[in-house]
Amino acid sequence: MTEQAAEKLIAVKPIAEKLIAVKPIAVKGTGFSPYFDPAGKTGASAPEGCSSPSPAPRARVQSMPEYHPPLGSRDALRLDFNENTLACSPKVREVLGRISAGSLTRYPEREPVEAIVAAHLGLAPAQVALTNGVDEAIHVLFEAFLEAGDELLLPVPTYTMYQIYASATDANIVPVQADESLAFPSERLLSAITPRTKIVAIANPNSPSGSAATRDRLLAIANRAPHAVVFVDEAYFHFHGETVLDLIGAVPNLVVARTFSKAYGLAGLRLGLLAGPVEILRWVRRVLSPYSVNSLALACLPPALEDSAYLDWYVSEVLAARAEFEAAIDRAGLRRWPSRANFILVEIGPRHAEFVRFMRAAGVLVRDRSSDPGCCGRVRITIGTREQMRQASVALHETVAALNLGKEAQ
Ligand code: PMP
Repeated sequence: MTEQAAEKLIAVKPIAEKLIAVKPIAVKGTGFSPYFDPAGKTGASAPEGCSSPSPAPRARVQSMPEYHPPLGSRDALRLDFNENTLACSPKVREVLGRISAGSLTRYPEREPVEAIVAAHLGLAPAQVALTNGVDEAIHVLFEAFLEAGDELLLPVPTYTMYQIYASATDANIVPVQADESLAFPSERLLSAITPRTKIVAIANPNSPSGSAATRDRLLAIANRAPHAVVFVDEAYFHFHGETVLDLIGAVPNLVVARTFSKAYGLAGLRLGLLAGPVEILRWVRRVLSPYSVNSLALACLPPALEDSAYLDWYVSEVLAARAEFEAAIDRAGLRRWPSRANFILVEIGPRHAEFVRFMRAAGVLVRDRSSDPGCCGRVRITIGTREQMRQASVALHETVAALNLGKEAQ
């Protein structure tokens, strides 16, 4: 039977409609963050009716908490995960709708799509690796480079998954705390570099602060640590507009990540990439599964790249909405941090958890970042379209009034 004949037998509804039925994930534990299980609670234990303990994992894994981001019950305005709050390009939808059941029976072939992305970015195919989201890029980079005695320099607060993946290696995490301004701690980072520094992981712009490092500062770090990989995670690049991607290859220790989860609106497909010198990517590819980027994601990538009009529209919509929402936060009398991304960190103070609950009751999901280092009492609000942010402004003002915030948070 041909692929087309098989197609006729199977009624495939548009795949995008039914890709995911997310079940609420229980939020457990009170460890490092509200979404971590403290070590041991979920550790190896004998199943009921079985006398021998289950095999023990590596010591580092035993001491790791489980991470449960609050992905459950999100049928509301999603201003909690810095996603695109609307949709991906209609051109991507079209391609998804045309995917045949027969084509899903094949293993995905990534190389041709890697070549397309590389050309789009002005790089050689050998300088680009597609990954299952930037998360996999972080995972494989750390896996390939971090060993016992190595140090990962981590400006904090920052994206949680750096710490998670580093914790699973035998390297030491060296946090470098930002000051009250939450600006990129450039000088502190430079002075924390040692001969044991193996990776410096920098989200640029950073989350949850929204602050950005200049190109000069990033270059200074790459020059000071020629023995280390300087990993610049440009997940929010499109909202910032500045990049170091053009320096790939010219700076021998610079590696850049990009995601399709944010501006492109494809978080559910899990698609990211790592760009770096051929010499570094060669090692990364040794630990990267050749199958980890699925065929739906690979099929959607070329139309996503081609539809630059949609991307430009979404980014400009978010930037306009950000300016309006900043004014709304100011009117509410709340402190905020300047943002170069599609979210804003806001000071709520001791009633941060109530704030999040009130906002949810008003139909708006926001993310409590209180357990991030240096972020007690602070909540991160994703920026969507202007229309969505007008709804969020109403919820914000109602919540601030109900909780009598504003003045007291300053
Ligand atoms: N990097 C940063 C800085 C992020 O904030 C996030 C997600 N919020 C990611 C990477 C994850 O990207 P992806 O969905 O491609 O795994």
